Amino acid sequence: MKYSVVKTILNKIYTSRVPDPGDLEFVLSLRDPEEIREVFTFADKIREKFCGKGIALRGIIEFSNYCFRRCFYCGINKDNSKIKRYRMSRKEILDTVGRLVSCRIKTVVLQSGEDAGIDAAWLEDVILSIKSRFDIAVTLSVGERENEDYRLWRRAGAERYLLKIETSNEKLYSSMHPGMDFRHRIGCLNALKSLGYQTGSGIIVGLPGQDLKTIARDILFFKKRDFDMIGIGPFIPHQNTCFTDKPGGDAGLALKTLALTRIVTRNAHLPATTALGSLDRDYRPEGLACGANVLMPNFTPLPYRKLYEIYPQKRCVSEAPGACGTCMEKMAKGLGRFVDYSRADSLKKRDQFTAHS
Ligand code: SF4
Repeated sequence: MKYSVVKTILNKIYTSRVPDPGDLEFVLSLRDPEEIREVFTFADKIREKFCGKGIALRGIIEFSNYCFRRCFYCGINKDNSKIKRYRMSRKEILDTVGRLVSCRIKTVVLQSGEDAGIDAAWLEDVILSIKSRFDIAVTLSVGERENEDYRLWRRAGAERYLLKIETSNEKLYSSMHPGMDFRHRIGCLNALKSLGYQTGSGIIVGLPGQDLKTIARDILFFKKRDFDMIGIGPFIPHQNTCFTDKPGGDAGLALKTLALTRIVTRNAHLPATTALGSLDRDYRPEGLACGANVLMPNFTPLPYRKLYEIYPQKRCVSEAPGACGTCMEKMAKGLGRFVDYSRADSLKKRDQFTAHS
C-alpha cells in the first residue's frame, strides 16, 4: 500500500506544471529502500522515454586552476596556497582536444577556475582553432564574465556554457561565496541563454546549512529556468578550505535529487557527475540508473589533473588518457545501455541554438 502512495506522489510531481515543494521534500526524505527503489525506477523510465538508452560523453579539459574567488567548499579557491597553479597553453589544449577526438568524443568541456589571466581574445582564438580543426561541440565552464566575453565566445562557435548556481537559496549562496552576488550570477545565466548558448547549471547536495526544503526549491528552480543540462553532485569537504570539518554530502540524497530532477525536467541532460564517483565508492552506475544520461571523462593531461582538486579523492586522477573509453563502455553495457558518440546537443530543440547572436 505504502508504495502506491509514493507512486501517486511521483505521478503528481511528474504531471504538475509547478510541482508542490512539499511533495518533493517528501520524496527527498524517503528512507525505506523499497520506496527509494520506486523513485529510481520511475526516474529511469522518464529518462528512457525522453532521452533514450544512449549515454552521451563530454570530454573535460581542466585548463587552468587559477581562481580569484573564495568559495568556501572549493579546493582551488584563491586562499588555498598549498596547491601549485597551472594554466595550459593553447597548444596543450589543442593537442588534448585531438586526443579526445581520437576517442570518438564529440563534445569538449573547457573548464577552469575564475581566472582573471584568461584573456577573452585568447580563449576566442582557442575556440576558433578547435572549430577549424575538429567537428566537435564546445562547452565552456569558466565562470562569471562580462556579457561581451560571452558574446565573443559564442560568435567564435562555442555552443554551450555551464554555470552552476550551487544553491538557489540566495541567503545560503551569500553565506559561502564572499564577494559574489547571487543576482549577478542569475544575470549571467540570463545573458548566456539570451545569447543562444545551451545553458547548464547545477547544485551541490549536502552543503552546510542546506536542508531538504532548499533542495526542493533547487529542483523547482531547474524546472522554471528550463536548463539544457544540470549537474548534481554531493558535497565533499576539502582539507584546505574552511569547510574542512563539515560533514560530507550523502550519496543517497544526491541520487534522490538527481532522480527528482529527471522526473521534473524530463529531457535535460543530466550527468552522473565525477563527484558521485568520488565517494566511498563509485555511485555513477546508480546515477545512470536513476535518471542520468551523461558521463564526463576527464582528458586533462596527467601532470595537471591532480592539481585541479576542487574536492579530494577525485576520481580518475591517475588513469592514462584513453582509459576512460573502456570504463564508460563497460559501465553502459552493465546497465543494458550504450555509449552515444554523437554530439548529443540539447534535447530542448530551441531555435536559438543555431543562431549566433
Ligand atoms: S567554485 Fe569555481 S569560482 Fe569558486 S573557488 Fe572554486 S573554481 Fe573558483
